[in-house]
Amino acid sequence: MALQREIGKRVVVIGGSFAGKLAARVLSDFFAEVIIIEKDHKDENVATTKGVPQGAQGHVLLKSGEEILEELFPGIIQDLVQDGSKQSDFAEDLSWFHHGSWKARYDSGLTIIQQSRPFLEWHIQRKLEAIPNIMYRYSSKVKGLIFFENEISGVVAENADGSTVDLEADIVIDASGAAAFTTRWLKDFGFEQPQKTEVEVDLFYASMIYKNLCYKECNWHSILVYPNPPEIERGGSISPIEGNRFLVTLLGYGEKEIPNDLTSFLRYTKTLGQPHLHEMIKNAVPDSEIEVYRFPALSRYHYEKYRNFPAGLLVIGDAFGRVDPVFAQGMSIAALEAYAMRSLLLRYRSKQKLTKDFHNKVSKIIDIPWLIALTEDFRFKNTSGNRPFGLPFLQWYVKKVVKACSHNEKVYGQFMNVLHLKAHPISLFKPMVLVGVFGEHKIIK
Ligand SMILES: Cc1cc2nc3c(=O)[nH]c(=O)nc-3n(C[C@H](O)[C@H](O)[C@H](O)COP(=O)(O)OP(=O)(O)OC[C@H]3O[C@@H](n4cnc5c(N)ncnc54)[C@H](O)[C@@H]3O)c2cc1C
Repeated sequence: MALQREIGKRVVVIGGSFAGKLAARVLSDFFAEVIIIEKDHKDENVATTKGVPQGAQGHVLLKSGEEILEELFPGIIQDLVQDGSKQSDFAEDLSWFHHGSWKARYDSGLTIIQQSRPFLEWHIQRKLEAIPNIMYRYSSKVKGLIFFENEISGVVAENADGSTVDLEADIVIDASGAAAFTTRWLKDFGFEQPQKTEVEVDLFYASMIYKNLCYKECNWHSILVYPNPPEIERGGSISPIEGNRFLVTLLGYGEKEIPNDLTSFLRYTKTLGQPHLHEMIKNAVPDSEIEVYRFPALSRYHYEKYRNFPAGLLVIGDAFGRVDPVFAQGMSIAALEAYAMRSLLLRYRSKQKLTKDFHNKVSKIIDIPWLIALTEDFRFKNTSGNRPFGLPFLQWYVKKVVKACSHNEKVYGQFMNVLHLKAHPISLFKPMVLVGVFGEHKIIK
């Protein structure tokens, strides 16, 4: 197989989930062999895995992530839709209550595909399996790194039977997600810890699948009732997934009682300030158990500031930073990071430079979703941590933008571009948006 450019013989990717998969695809153009080491066993079916428990919760792939996915795996979006993903216009098909108003519904041209997270991963997996120089080692856990004079040269992996194996590698990618393998490894070996920023939000998610909830008779594909803090710190959504089913997700910040049975789940839907979720599910029969996930804090490690970081060890995805999942950015951040890795590999000079440049880029990629998330998260009573600069102004202005999204399609269009990580938040100060936000309130198309 002809490589785009040969940089080395072998690269090892720790973790075979979203970030690991996309990184592996990118690396397969530059290394003779890509080995993904995944601690979970191989599942032939579409299923939530132990290593990615959040996969049972509602997952939206933003447009920026979708576009990169399609570029890396041509045809994947069509395959997903053919197999049961629902294609939806983000404005027309999503009924979204946000800060006290429903957003305008119109044909925006910004489409997304909706499905469960495991269904999405399963399709990426199939595409990876068709790439000859990518190999998976399932049921194998990376326990350590091999290095010489501050340069990574391989990993130590533990097999399912407890035996260990040393695998040489030119480059190692840490895509271990919340397990944050690198920070643990640095700690275990007595190295300096990377600086960490954390903002506590005490968020929970609880999700359940329903069949035949509503489709033909409803004028929406999804409903999202975002919390309206500080009065209402609870929210929920209904989204279509493959197999003509719906995933109903409830969430709340600083919540004492998590709905973990049918009665409390239904009761919770009555407290969202809008009746829609309750009305939809009150007489419906669920098709799954309730899955709960707790997300205590947003966190990011500052590998970009780490001096003498081992050359050839690149940290990607949630292992580098985790933002509030409500904004559905995690997978798209990982996709943008994989894309950035590709551009650096195309002009590769040395392991040291690649490592430093990559971590600088990843940090910059996280900055924007981090700011978007914190601007909203600090509206909740229990959020604690470092506040972004200019927060009161940002919160005031974003609320105005959100209000304008209920009647001005131009403002909403720009707001969507920012949310989907396709435009910088500064674009919300364009004259066209300012006019929409502060001008007369009439329906603008
Ligand atoms: C409740 C919730 C809802 C979310 N909703 C959205 C959404 O709507 N849209 C969105 O884009 N994002 C969403 N996210 C974020 C998204 O789930 C993550 O950003 C994404 O999973 C990150 O992918 P990753 O590959 O970095 O890590 P993960 O998906 O967590 O995967 C890490 C992998 O590494 C493996 N692993 C760990 N340690 C080792 C080891 N030592 N050796 C071998 N393998 C190892 C694990 O088994 C796992 O497979 C949500 C997150 C949560 C918590």
